[in-house]
Amino acid sequence: MNNLDLVIIGGGPAAWSCAMTAINRSLTCTVVTAGTQRSGMVKAHMITNYPGLPNISGDELMEKMRSQAVEMGCTVMEGNARQIMPAGNGFMTLVGNDILQSSAVVLALGAAMPKLLPGESDLLGHGVSWCGTCDGMFYRKKPVAVLSAWEGGVEDAEFLAGVCSSVDYYTLAKHTLPEDERIAMKPGKPLSLEKCEEGIRLKTDAGEAVYAGVFVFRPAVAPGTLLPGLELDGSAIRVDRRMATSIPRVYACGDCTGQPLQIAKAVGEGNIAAISAAADLAALKKGNA
Ligand SMILES: Cc1cc2nc3c(=O)[nH]c(=O)nc-3n(C[C@H](O)[C@H](O)[C@H](O)COP(=O)(O)OP(=O)(O)OC[C@H]3O[C@@H](n4cnc5c(N)ncnc54)[C@H](O)[C@@H]3O)c2cc1C
Repeated sequence: MNNLDLVIIGGGPAAWSCAMTAINRSLTCTVVTAGTQRSGMVKAHMITNYPGLPNISGDELMEKMRSQAVEMGCTVMEGNARQIMPAGNGFMTLVGNDILQSSAVVLALGAAMPKLLPGESDLLGHGVSWCGTCDGMFYRKKPVAVLSAWEGGVEDAEFLAGVCSSVDYYTLAKHTLPEDERIAMKPGKPLSLEKCEEGIRLKTDAGEAVYAGVFVFRPAVAPGTLLPGLELDGSAIRVDRRMATSIPRVYACGDCTGQPLQIAKAVGEGNIAAISAAADLAALKKGNA
C-alpha cells in the first residue's frame, strides 16, 4: 500500500502547478525540493511575459506559487531526491535517508546544469542571461555578446540582432554557425565573465571585450541516473502530450522536458501531468490499467 498518490520532484513553477491540480483532483501529494533557490525562476529579476502578473520578480512569483500550493494542502519535503525505484505497484523515492512511497511520480527537475563559466551564475539576471526572448528588450540598441554551445543559440542571436545595436557571436562548442550579416563571428574561447563599470567583461583566450549584456545558450544536460530506464530525447526527458514518460505512471514537466524554457510552458505541463496521473490512478483502482 502506497501512502501517497503522487511524489513530485521539483520546486519550480512546474512542480507547484502540478501540486495544485493534483490536490484539486483529490490526490495526496508531496513536493520534494532541493531548494526553490535552485529554480531558474528565482534568478529572473523581472518577468514580463507571465499572464496576469506583469513585471513581477522571480522571487515574488516563486513565493506566490509555493504558498498557494501549501495553502491548498500540498506537503513539502526539503531534500535531494537521490533515486527512484519501482516497488510493487508504485515507486520508492529516496530523499536523503528517507523513503517516500507513492503510486505515481512527477519529475519537475528543471534544466540540468552544465559546467558554467566563472562568474556566470553570480551575474545571471545582472547582465548575463540564458533567454533572448525574456531579456532581449533590456538591451535594446545596446551591444551584446552571444556565447553558444549549440544551434539553439543561432535563432536567439538572430532575434537579438533585430533588437540590439550589435551582436558578437562566440562558440562554446562546435555547431552550425549563423549566416547572418548582422551577427559578427568572433574568435576566441570564452573563459570568464565579470562585472565592470560599462557592463560585462568577457575574457577569451584571444583577448577581452565589454558588452552591455551577455547571452549564454547551451542545450540542457541529461537528467542523470535518478530513474534508470527513463527514455531521453537528447538531454530532455521524452514525454508524450499527456506528459507521460516511457515508464508507466511516471510523468515529467517543465524545463526537464526540453525547449522552450519558459514559466508558462512549465506551469501548463505541470497541470497536464497532474490530470494524466489522476486519470491513470483512477483507471488503476478500477483495474483498467
Ligand atoms: C535569469 C533567468 C530569467 C528568466 N526569465 C524568464 C522570463 O522572463 N519568463 C519566462 O517565462 N521564463 C524565464 N526564465 C525561465 C524559467 O525560469 C524556467 O523556464 C522555469 O523556472 C522552469 O520551471 P521548472 O519548474 O521546470 O524548473 P525550475 O524552476 O528550474 O525548478 C526546478 C527545481 O527542481 C529542483 N530539483 C532538481 N533536481 C532535484 C532533485 N533530484 N531533488 C529535489 N529537487 C530537485 C531544484 O531545486 C529546483 O527547485 C528565466 C530563467 C532565468 C535563469
